[in-house]
Amino acid sequence: MLISDLIKLGRPILETGGLPREIMELVSDIHKLNTKSFFSNVLVIEVESAGNCVAHDPMQWGEYVKASEKAKKMIFEPDYSRVGALPFVWPTGGNPIKPQGAYGLPVYLTFKKNWEEIQKGAEGAKSFLTERMQRTVGIKEVLKAQCIAETLHKGSKKIVVSTNQKENTLGLVALVGLWKDSPFCLWDSEPEPGDKNYVLVAPSKINLGKFIVADLLKTLELFWESKLAEGREKGKNKNGLCSFCDEKSDLVSAYCKSWPWFTTTWGCPLPMELKEKELVKSIAMCPKCYKSMVYGAAVFEKLTRPLENFLIKEIFSPVASPGGRESAGRGKSTPIHGCGYVLPIMDKPDNKALSSEDFAESLFLMMEEKIDKRGKEAAHIKAITGFDACLPEGFDSKDFLMNLIYFSGDTSRGDIHLRAKIEDILPSTLSRLSDLSGEVVEYYEIAAKRIFSKRSDKDASFMRNCYFSIPWMLTNAYGGPYIWDSLQKVVHHRPLSRKRFISNTARRMADLSIKISDGYALRKIKEEVLFYLVFSRFLYDYDQKILGIGGIAGMRDWKDIARLFESEEDLSGETLTDCEKLGFAAGWLVKSFSNQYWHQSGGKDFIKHRVMTFGSRIKPETLWKRALVPMNEIALQRDIHMTKGTKKLLALVLLEFGKFKEDVRNKEDNFMSAFWSGYILNN
Ligand SMILES: [Zn+2]
Repeated sequence: MLISDLIKLGRPILETGGLPREIMELVSDIHKLNTKSFFSNVLVIEVESAGNCVAHDPMQWGEYVKASEKAKKMIFEPDYSRVGALPFVWPTGGNPIKPQGAYGLPVYLTFKKNWEEIQKGAEGAKSFLTERMQRTVGIKEVLKAQCIAETLHKGSKKIVVSTNQKENTLGLVALVGLWKDSPFCLWDSEPEPGDKNYVLVAPSKINLGKFIVADLLKTLELFWESKLAEGREKGKNKNGLCSFCDEKSDLVSAYCKSWPWFTTTWGCPLPMELKEKELVKSIAMCPKCYKSMVYGAAVFEKLTRPLENFLIKEIFSPVASPGGRESAGRGKSTPIHGCGYVLPIMDKPDNKALSSEDFAESLFLMMEEKIDKRGKEAAHIKAITGFDACLPEGFDSKDFLMNLIYFSGDTSRGDIHLRAKIEDILPSTLSRLSDLSGEVVEYYEIAAKRIFSKRSDKDASFMRNCYFSIPWMLTNAYGGPYIWDSLQKVVHHRPLSRKRFISNTARRMADLSIKISDGYALRKIKEEVLFYLVFSRFLYDYDQKILGIGGIAGMRDWKDIARLFESEEDLSGETLTDCEKLGFAAGWLVKSFSNQYWHQSGGKDFIKHRVMTFGSRIKPETLWKRALVPMNEIALQRDIHMTKGTKKLLALVLLEFGKFKEDVRNKEDNFMSAFWSGYILNN
């Protein structure tokens, strides 16, 4: 169950403590892209418990910068060293302009509509404040201060509200002061910039010469109070048994806004007959598990990355039809997201592979958006996952397992479509597969160079990315609907079918071959041949290095055979040991002959002219009857002088074809994909 994974993921962060700034950034929404502009108008109302209050001049915590070097558009970039002092949660679902949920601190998101209401009169300011303050944890005393609404109304007049209809004016209204249990304190001097626990809010206007400072540890505590209050809103149970750790405690419902997945769509549907406030009866957890879950959910969100575009396109393409693949490639496809997270195998506190500090540190490393490509601290595993992900050194041991989750939909609305959950992946498998993918790319470069003499840099780098991705190769080999199944096989060391890959590839080649003389179809066949060679190599290495079994060599060794044909050395039956090698030789031979045929026939394509019957696919039998057997005769008719090598190869192919007849008939797809490879590689 995912929720218990989240608890396991979040618990070490809960246990580390001492990182209030990092943790605040993780669980609040002050570091999100969509909340930047709220710091462009920070309106602080300083409140004294005696009832005195003063409005500060609006502040700008950050500056406007160009969206990009060339762009004219300016965006607001917050000063991230300060934002931790006034944290907030972006409400998911519901109307963000209206008060909702529980507030840990009296820091309120303010939209244009709110500003207009507040500026209109003290009544407007009062209605803005009342419900919000009632939902705020630990400010009972402040509620008594009658002057706040009036002060807010007056102070708000200095906020410039945009008259442009399309422009929103965003900001924060924050009440600060020294009431009981307040997260703010009064200092004689400003805190040092970069102080881990204290951040400046503003110089005091009531106590002149002093500074209002936010205490981040207290802030975090209050933040938790609000989160727990949110859980309690859905019901509470005094002294019950936690569903996750069996601890007896005051329980809250597992439902929470920071984990909207846990609504109806996710694995654990809520019984319909339960009223919202009774959710606690369905799944209840102790505050410790609840906090761990909120941390875990934040980590999960940070580790969630979009799947690469070319991969998504591939997933939605029909595997066997080149035409269908073309049109699927052009259309817009549904985004898919992936998340990879690591959990310790041993779940007992006294048997930890890493201390909580080290575990949390490795987690924070995984969450970093830009992974240093040369960095040794974390291995890239994008080649396996299909999205940006890394495995920090600390996790690279047998004490950990990785889980991968793939989904599409909108998490903020709880509208999730789970596509796959692949569990219990050994980190050592990930690094071995990563090495394997590197070797496959090297092999791809050699094969691609041979097949495509001219290629644009853009094409080359695009294809390189594709071949770097194991999920892309699996999708191309087995088809979009089998992607998760085949990826699961790979990370769990289970055999992959060569037969299915060959049959899909051969079918695509056969469809393309009908239009062989057209340049576009020829190019596409070349791409298929490239894939056939590289994936054959991948399968061979996979069998040997991951499964530790012999592996079917197939066309892996095309370079050796091609060299033999090119050198025109003595060929013997031992060269063509199976029907794939025979197919390869037949393709090579037909191409050699076809080059000469072209010259002698005034530019006619041998296959199109002599071998193919109108609109039908070429089969081994067609080749035998229409190309191989009559080749000598055609040479005579057309006055084609076959080279010594071609003659020898023809004799050998004819001889071996007789021997392998049964095999060729049973493995038509193997023969034909090898045939096109020989045909294309002979250039
Ligand atoms: Zn618990």
